[in-house]
Amino acid sequence: MNDLLPEQSALWQYVESNLRATFSEYAYQEIRPNLIEKTHLFQRSIGELTDIVSKEMYSFSDRNDESLTLRPEGTAGCVRAAIEHSLAYNNTPRLWMMGPMFRYERPQKGRYRQFHQVAAEVFGIDDAHIDVELILMTASLWKKLGIAEHVKLNINSLGSSEDRQAYHSTLVDYFKDNFEQLDEDSKTRLESNPLRILDSKNPDLQALITAAPSILEHLSDESQAKFKLITQCLEAAGVVYHINTRLVRGLDYYNDLVFEWSTQFLGAQDAVCGGGRYDGLFEQLGGQATPAVGFAIGMERLIELVKLSELDTDTAVVDAYIVNLGDRARQYAMIAADKIRSDMPGFKVKTHLGQGSFKSQFKHANKSGATFALIIGDDEVDNSTLTLKYMREDKEQLTATLESIIEVMKNHG
Ligand code: AMP
Repeated sequence: MNDLLPEQSALWQYVESNLRATFSEYAYQEIRPNLIEKTHLFQRSIGELTDIVSKEMYSFSDRNDESLTLRPEGTAGCVRAAIEHSLAYNNTPRLWMMGPMFRYERPQKGRYRQFHQVAAEVFGIDDAHIDVELILMTASLWKKLGIAEHVKLNINSLGSSEDRQAYHSTLVDYFKDNFEQLDEDSKTRLESNPLRILDSKNPDLQALITAAPSILEHLSDESQAKFKLITQCLEAAGVVYHINTRLVRGLDYYNDLVFEWSTQFLGAQDAVCGGGRYDGLFEQLGGQATPAVGFAIGMERLIELVKLSELDTDTAVVDAYIVNLGDRARQYAMIAADKIRSDMPGFKVKTHLGQGSFKSQFKHANKSGATFALIIGDDEVDNSTLTLKYMREDKEQLTATLESIIEVMKNHG
């Protein structure tokens, strides 16, 4: 688990504000479901035999001996909230959420026990165009964040639950015929979750997996038509995709479209965003049958990618640093700082407080990354002026009234 430290938070905020702006452009509304749910909810939705439920949940008993769990993912809680508050009843909410998730995984680069996801979920729309909208939304986000070149889209269809069942037995037969070639992990999965064998990373299994029967050959006409509509729309929108029949995702509730954005720039943990359709989940959790589709982006991985982009992320913490000496100057500085803030919304002003000679205050100003230092000494107080010094440019400093200094800072390119 990682504390998010002050030096990282500016970039996080930058990415978060781009995410918020994108959701708002697509007219999605925020939901903030609970961080803790009944353990039962995850067992019923994600699936008892998945890695998440069988080994990764942070579960505990509360004072009433009820088993609760820190959410390992967001969809189940979001669906629970939608059922509880009738959000999807005669309604088709398009939602987004952001926050921490908890999984007891083996930590490594890009894989943590507390990590953050930003997710979108749409309920009540039985039309594959909404699946396309979600993909287009992620694609536009990558562009905004300058990482479009760093990610690739993989898509697959898991078909209806009947398609999946038929495929399930074909796949089990195939792997049983080749049982001796399977590794220990896959032998266990053959019993519990055979589809997951398909996304094994073991190099020794790759030939066997490549030759396995493909799910796309087991789709009903209806699922085939949905998948075709999606690929055609993506092509029309100019979104490049790869059909990856091995993409099954680690949670049980998916049907029809599944997709994943992955990258080759982050090492082994290469999935940045995963999503898909889960039309059966509402009913499975006791609600009315409601079609649903969504995705989740891993924030830590997204942030790492944004760091690689050439984008000027404007993460300066301070624009103007006010250097001041003595009580009179300090009072004058506080008032000037507030006048600047109200005249220049969004402009970041920090007043030096505490000890320090002019020299040491300038060191702080420099370290803060500020574009300007505003100097206030006795002369400035006596004459109702300020002195502006350019911290990053070789330009003459100037002394003038606060109003004039504000104009200079406003017009600075
Ligand atoms: P999932 O809910 O497993 O489909 O994950 C969706 C996204 O969350 C992944 O594509 C990753 O970017 C991110 N993610 C999942 N598990 C972790 C983890 N343990 N640490 C960091 N990011 C994760």
